[in-house]
Amino acid sequence: MGKLPVVYSEDFLTDYRTVDCENPDRSSAIRLAIEGIADFIDPEPCTEEDLLRCHTRALIETVERDREIFRVARKAAGGAIKAAEIALETPSFALIRPPGHHAGRNFNGGFCFFNNMAIALNSLLSRDLIERALIVDIDLHYGNGTEDIVTGDDRIFFWNIETSNREEFFADLEAALKAAPGYDIVGCSAGFDTYLHDWGGILFTEDYHKIAGMIMSSSRRFFTVLEGGYYIQDLGKNARSYLNGVLEASQ
Ligand SMILES: [Zn+2]
Repeated sequence: MGKLPVVYSEDFLTDYRTVDCENPDRSSAIRLAIEGIADFIDPEPCTEEDLLRCHTRALIETVERDREIFRVARKAAGGAIKAAEIALETPSFALIRPPGHHAGRNFNGGFCFFNNMAIALNSLLSRDLIERALIVDIDLHYGNGTEDIVTGDDRIFFWNIETSNREEFFADLEAALKAAPGYDIVGCSAGFDTYLHDWGGILFTEDYHKIAGMIMSSSRRFFTVLEGGYYIQDLGKNARSYLNGVLEASQ
């Protein structure tokens, strides 16, 4: 089995000022667990132009007040862009932090600063590399920031899976993917906080394998950006299960 391109930087180990649960150990736990199945790629930070496609100048300036957060958040968004570019050829994963799906056009919160997923897709759209994209958000929490940015843009369709029930989760994912053949690319906002021992208490480790396989079967042009996931003890294992799902479906 080959390796999966994983966009990652040691900058994501920066202990910038945020809440205790969204910490550098999240990145290192995943990095360690997937080492044998990943080809790591160091991204460039995104540009101001990339940010301005999705955020107001006012929002950007509030993030910029903390130079360290601004630096790492731009790198994370650049990492999402890189993963999306790779996905035009082969599936990829962006092991990035801070997460992004609670960052809207003119607001942010929930440990997010810039919307990595929306920035990545808008970068591809601006270069005419894709025409239509589907975002599937499997994080425990609603991707309110992503919704805020893509609402009214008929090139991007946003599907958020929101349930506290495992069967419903998979039924909803299946419904989301029925739409996928009409899209040039599928981006998954992957939060592992749906995990049994995490806040959500819904999914088992092997379920992440299944999720990735299901998305792969609907679109080979597929990239994932890391959102939440706070049960560090099993976070690496869950991400590895997900990556293995992508790899096995790539065969
Ligand atoms: Zn979450």
